[in-house]
Amino acid sequence: MEYTTAVQIRNAIENKKVTAIEVLEHYLDIIAQKDKEIGAFLEVFEDDARAQAKKIDEMVASGESLPRMAGVPIAVKDNILVKGHIASAGSKILENHVATYDATAVANLKEAGAVIIGRTNMDEFAMGSSTETSFWQVTKNPVDTTKVPGGSSGGSVAAVAAGMVPVALGSSTGGSIQQPASLCGVYGMKPTYGFVSRYGLIALGSSLDQIGAITNDAKDMALVLEVIEGIDEHDATSVDIPEVVTHELLQDNFEGMTFGVPKEYFVDEMDADVKKLVEEAIEKIKSAGGTIKEVSLPLTEYALPAYYIIQPAEASSNLGRFDGMRYGTRAQSDKLKESYLMSRGGGFGKEVKRRIMIGTYVLSAGYYDAYYKKALQIRQMISKDFERVFEEVDVLVGPTSPVVAWGLGDKFDDPIAMYLADIFTVSVNIAGISSISVPCGLAKGLPVGLQFLAGAGQDGKILRAAAAFEALTK
Ligand code: GLN
Repeated sequence: MEYTTAVQIRNAIENKKVTAIEVLEHYLDIIAQKDKEIGAFLEVFEDDARAQAKKIDEMVASGESLPRMAGVPIAVKDNILVKGHIASAGSKILENHVATYDATAVANLKEAGAVIIGRTNMDEFAMGSSTETSFWQVTKNPVDTTKVPGGSSGGSVAAVAAGMVPVALGSSTGGSIQQPASLCGVYGMKPTYGFVSRYGLIALGSSLDQIGAITNDAKDMALVLEVIEGIDEHDATSVDIPEVVTHELLQDNFEGMTFGVPKEYFVDEMDADVKKLVEEAIEKIKSAGGTIKEVSLPLTEYALPAYYIIQPAEASSNLGRFDGMRYGTRAQSDKLKESYLMSRGGGFGKEVKRRIMIGTYVLSAGYYDAYYKKALQIRQMISKDFERVFEEVDVLVGPTSPVVAWGLGDKFDDPIAMYLADIFTVSVNIAGISSISVPCGLAKGLPVGLQFLAGAGQDGKILRAAAAFEALTK
């Protein structure tokens, strides 16, 4: 099939060049061919998807006007609820958890005519940077199947990168959309906190979590966000979007844009080939008319330590509900306390337990001031740093990840090495701002991502930068 983006697919269906069923069968075929090896999907909703595609074809036949994403297949991360289907968040404890309602993002997609094709693998409860902590399976990087796809939205990203679906939803608490997008060579965006409703997203760190998308280009990114963003009465932290960037309005130039290059984003431990590619990309932006300015975000080194206090603290509280009584598989025992212990002990994996322990520790009476309160203070200072810099520049540009995709298993037993993979992305969630990763070339044959960041509510600026960079490099 010659149509590879959501915009192309929808228009081809409208112009009767292809039917929604043909589009769907095309992607189902690719999934059947490739996913045994990649392991991106936990479940493919074949029957449901066919029923949805059929409806679109009926609309075409009756001459009705088509909604914005009519007939576009989309995969959804396993922590985002799709009514009537299991949502396990990659965990054994939710193996039988069937969603009783659609997440708002999913409801909006359905209303826009998108076809929900299946749910994708992820790190357990979105804790991880490699998609290896899933209880169910390991997902492989489609570019090189001996490597990790990154995480925690590795299933959604691998599905797009392997051409098994044109668009997918992911979630980011500390970089889980942009980091895997960088490692697999596709577009991944985390919008401003509050732009996409978290209703129906299984919570990890509620003050950090945000749903975003993975696509093959900037236009599709703008389209998906147009559909899923907006204020929602079910999520008190959702906000009204000040200015919607519609995909039709994206520009292919950097005219009038100032880019800040944070010097702290080029650390010594960074892969030299990644550094070189990112520096070349910045040169390209400069030759194409963008103004480049060196800036400083001095608190960058404290972002990761602050994140690994705040996030486990919120996670330990959010995960309290998975106890076999309120949610989750209940271990059989006639003693109440033992049932709790067995449900949680057997239902959660190692990384989840580690975070629950860290989280309860930093929130405990004796340590709250020393850790949690301090981390919140640093959080405020990091936000202020960004606000100051965004008074001088429109967009920040730098690497998404300090390294390319690493070998499966390489960092699995070294949590600190795994945490360091997010060194350039956790600040985005800490400050609630927006970020997109766009492909900027290959190092050692593996994809490298360039990251654009913008202040809260300025998502349109990074979409425009992404579109212009794409036009420059394609
Ligand atoms: N890798 C980070 C973590 O393990 C971020 C995860 C995420 O964004 N969901 O917490």
